Amino acid sequence: MTFIPYATPRMAGDGRREANAAAVLRTVLDHGPLARSAIARHSGLSPAAVSRQATDLFRHGLLRELPELGEGGGVGRPQVPVDLHLGASHGPVAAGVHLGVPASSFGLVDLRGRVIARRTMNHVGADPRVLPAHVSRELDAFLAEHLDGRPLLGVGAAAGGWVDPDQGLVVRHDALGWFHRPLAAELARGLGRRRVRLDNHARAIAQSEILFGRPQARRSLVHLFIGNVVDAALGIAGVVHQGPGSAAGDVAHLPVPDSTAVCPCGRAGCLEATASNTAVGETAQRRGIVPEPDVSLVVDAAAAGDRRADRLLRERARAVGRAVALLLDVLNPDLVVVTEQSSILNPEYLEEIRGAAVDLSHVCDDPERIVSPHAGPATLPVAAGTVVLNPLFRRPLQTLQELSWPGGGALSTSQNADKPG
Ligand SMILES: [Zn+2]
Repeated sequence: MTFIPYATPRMAGDGRREANAAAVLRTVLDHGPLARSAIARHSGLSPAAVSRQATDLFRHGLLRELPELGEGGGVGRPQVPVDLHLGASHGPVAAGVHLGVPASSFGLVDLRGRVIARRTMNHVGADPRVLPAHVSRELDAFLAEHLDGRPLLGVGAAAGGWVDPDQGLVVRHDALGWFHRPLAAELARGLGRRRVRLDNHARAIAQSEILFGRPQARRSLVHLFIGNVVDAALGIAGVVHQGPGSAAGDVAHLPVPDSTAVCPCGRAGCLEATASNTAVGETAQRRGIVPEPDVSLVVDAAAAGDRRADRLLRERARAVGRAVALLLDVLNPDLVVVTEQSSILNPEYLEEIRGAAVDLSHVCDDPERIVSPHAGPATLPVAAGTVVLNPLFRRPLQTLQELSWPGGGALSTSQNADKPG
């Protein structure tokens, strides 16, 4: 894969040290394991600058030297391969939690955004007022079980709706009835003194595609999330757009061509009313396909050969495809990532989305520009973990400080203050 290098701005003093550290870290992410001399070549930094930054990043435990492959040289020699310090070798990890309806999911991810462990927690009928406390208790137990001595960088949380990451606030989440809820602080309270960062789930997935997914995602992408909540995110040149009040991405009421579904907003044909999990579950129940309005049951029924379930999922996929066509025509991104359960599990539904999008779009005749998220069924926990990992790859030194990473000194698991199970 050819990755597009990040720009490394020339700055003085600490700003420059930070930018150089980020460049080294991201070069190793994209190309590692590789020797210091190769890091210099890929990043455009001088060998001396690479050496300095690598020393910093070793000290913080983010990089490690691999056992030597070739001849000659000891520790610190320029040809010793360097890689991210990964979870498999007990390097640092990030926890991710996605708070959804009617289930939440947790995961532990390493510095390459790869899943070490994950779990789904169903909470059908749970009271949304106490849901954060409930989720943080379960997450705490999950961490006690799976950290296995690895140092925890922090906890990333993702949720649907309008989320303000700077305030750690859910401004509005209609499905859960949350308004101005300080979710990051509530989760942190339930997790001892652990740091929690919060973002909208559509933006978090877009960010995980930029950091760990396909190279085109770094040029420009649109991410469309189809769950019980329907929202979207836009990334350009590696940056996910937030807009004033972090309100970007509300596509719930985007009019879908040819849809007549009635929306609570009073209009017909809105995307969420047409294609959300809730809408599809209710339609499936009305048509007698499933006993409960649960989209997972519809997906299971289709997988077991139920033609009516399959037809309904294809109808939804084509509606999603028509919405994708509108987004393609307005924004012309290099990549459209669609997070939707049936198409993640079965590529035939992705083909339906692609077909409908290309049929309607005026600018896109390449179905391959429309893809499922790179992490497949683990998309949500990986994206939530990215809420912690993204700032680390952009401003590593500042982020470690914000995460209260042990004193800028050598990192050890005993300093991690993990609570006993
Ligand atoms: Zn509407």
